[in-house]
Amino acid sequence: MGDENTNNGTLVVISGPSGVGKSTICRQLVEQLNAFLSVSVTTRPIGENEVDGRDYWFISEQDFETRVADDGFLEHARVFENSYGTLRQPVKDAIQDGQVVILEVDVQGALSVKKTCRNALLIFILPPSQADLAGRMKARARGEDMDNERQRLDSASQEIAAAWQHYDHLVINADLGQAVKEIKQIIDQNTGAKQ
Ligand code: ADP
Ligand code: 5GP
Repeated sequence: MGDENTNNGTLVVISGPSGVGKSTICRQLVEQLNAFLSVSVTTRPIGENEVDGRDYWFISEQDFETRVADDGFLEHARVFENSYGTLRQPVKDAIQDGQVVILEVDVQGALSVKKTCRNALLIFILPPSQADLAGRMKARARGEDMDNERQRLDSASQEIAAAWQHYDHLVINADLGQAVKEIKQIIDQNTGAKQ
């Protein structure tokens, strides 16, 4: 997908450490902006409260590789020992349709999207503190083991360092309503600037 194709809609990429509140924020953005949220494909096991086709499309490594070979992904990456990918066609269609399109992807995915879609707006969500992040990860209760949880917490500081360097905006998710409001303002400004 080249740059010319992002002229109709707005491509918004949301990243942040695991448990910071990305899914919660994205759900609110979809409701309030009538935005299109891309449902990613993943090979990780489905979590206790997750639904196939709503949270992710949960598929096997083999099916994932077939989609990679078919060039079906706008971007894809290995994250926490599993594969994740953004389906190219639904995103392309929604952008051409003039919609605000939201991708919730990791830093690797965001940088890869920015290379092909230079108009993409990169927004990184920060926790108010490390303790809040650890607490929210527990509150989310997806049934991860301790190793996986530790790995997710450890990678947060690396992701935050990359975010300072590469992202267009950093937003602290202390108060949820305030964070959503800030992101809406950023998107509005960007949409206005294109018209
Ligand atoms: P992520 O998608 O980044 O992994 P989630 O959206 O699943 O994170 O949120 C993790 C947990 O944190 C959930 O229990 C959610 O309700 C909670 N949460 C999200 N935003 C806030 C906030 N501003 N204050 C307190 N808890 C929050
Ligand atoms: P989780 O397993 O907690 O849902 O997601 C783990 C990480 O994978 C998060 O940083 C999330 O943003 C990222 N992620 C989710 N979907 C995609 C995707 O399609 N592509 C990439 N690159 N990362 C993704």
